[in-house]
Amino acid sequence: MPTAQPPPLNVAIIGGGPGGLGAAIALSALPHISVTLYEQARELREIGAGIRIGANCWTVLGLLGAEDGVKGHVEERVLQRNGLSGELLAEKNLDGALSGGGSVKERSGVEPQRVRRTRLQSALVGKVGEGIIKLGRKLVRMEKVAGGKGGSVVVVREHVFRDHSIKFTGTTIFRTLIPASSVSHIPDMTPATTWWHGPTGHMYSSLVDDPSELRPEEQMFEIAARDVCDPATVTGKRFSWGVPATKERVESFFTDYDPRVRETLAIVPEGQWKEFSAFAGPRLEKLVAWEGRVVLIGDASHPLSGAFGSGAAFALEDGWILARAIEYARGDLQAALDIFDEIRSPYYYKMYQYLDQIKASMQNAKAANPTQSFEESLEARVNAFGGEDRLSWIYGNDIKDVWRKWVDGKIAAKSVK
Ligand SMILES: Cc1cc2nc3c(=O)[nH]c(=O)nc-3n(C[C@H](O)[C@H](O)[C@H](O)COP(=O)(O)OP(=O)(O)OC[C@H]3O[C@@H](n4cnc5c(N)ncnc54)[C@H](O)[C@@H]3O)c2cc1C
Repeated sequence: MPTAQPPPLNVAIIGGGPGGLGAAIALSALPHISVTLYEQARELREIGAGIRIGANCWTVLGLLGAEDGVKGHVEERVLQRNGLSGELLAEKNLDGALSGGGSVKERSGVEPQRVRRTRLQSALVGKVGEGIIKLGRKLVRMEKVAGGKGGSVVVVREHVFRDHSIKFTGTTIFRTLIPASSVSHIPDMTPATTWWHGPTGHMYSSLVDDPSELRPEEQMFEIAARDVCDPATVTGKRFSWGVPATKERVESFFTDYDPRVRETLAIVPEGQWKEFSAFAGPRLEKLVAWEGRVVLIGDASHPLSGAFGSGAAFALEDGWILARAIEYARGDLQAALDIFDEIRSPYYYKMYQYLDQIKASMQNAKAANPTQSFEESLEARVNAFGGEDRLSWIYGNDIKDVWRKWVDGKIAAKSVK
């Protein structure tokens, strides 16, 4: 690796989501880098209700110095219920034992929390330096300028990976935040975080605030109600960002659910629902393009459609690793982006593989029992998806450790030569 002072590098980041903001924080901490972040929206607004901050996310937020102010509801109890009958199918406690020993709390050292998305966004924005974020600026095309100097990193997908496309998956998610006090009288709706599973979707509900911080009347409750259909049956345009949905539309998917679910949905005031359509696409073989000057991070790099509920953590990890790779390569941008790709692509590959395995195991269970009842399919669904324990390589991922191991591997490889 070159040892001289690295040359100055201008970096353009497209998008002010967790990925772009995290990358802006991590990259602008490097002395030779000048960062500009372009966001198409005129203001940075986060409308996605709540977000889960698990151990992987806490680790990277700590590395970015952005964990202060990110505070919410500690997921002490997570319940899985039959959404129609209300029957309790599974329960996980924060202090409960994990396979391999220890509890979620002990193993990760931090508590998973459900927080308002706005709090994560504010914490990140607060760490991005003055003048870096340019709002109301949309990337519409990219051109190679004759005689232009090398050394710009841009984070975008459709402009450089033209053969790659994402499609509506058939999953529609309705999300809202309402005062927790408005549902506190409904049995079992609070304080546990609960999945109410139905035949073609589920309702997820959770508190999102820390009771030691806010008065009871200020605390909020999150609902994410999901329906899955065959995407081929859907006509009309779908949007991945939140568009308004009526009460009637949302409630129509849950008419046969447990009365507690229906009562909760009925309490949401008209005009409070936002509808998100999930899009996903195949894994990209490589995250670097345009002669090593463009790199994808966050959702743009792995269109998984929120499959693991940890995409913000992945996006933040990407930004932090990108900064380490650029720092390590000391001016060799191509080498830096290759390092980034070498570390992150296999990680995403493992996620796609895992999802394929889940899909196959569900299909096998169905093939073995074609007359599978709703209860049987539900059991398969609840058992199929691992949590903190089975997926510790995701939820317990320590990105600092990942980087240290990569560097150690390079040192070991050199000493063998
Ligand atoms: C229902 C659901 C639940 C989820 N729950 C969780 C959770 O609990 N925990 C978790 O960690 N993750 C969760 N996720 C995933 C998480 O929201 C995403 O993975 C995360 O927001 C990805 O961040 P990002 O910065 O890559 O992309 P985004 O957050 O999508 O940000 C992209 C930004 O780029 C801007 N942009 C796009 N195109 C342009 C352009 N041409 N020019 C300029 N700007 C542009 C957009 O306006 C946007 O602000 C969930 C996702 C879904 C759908």
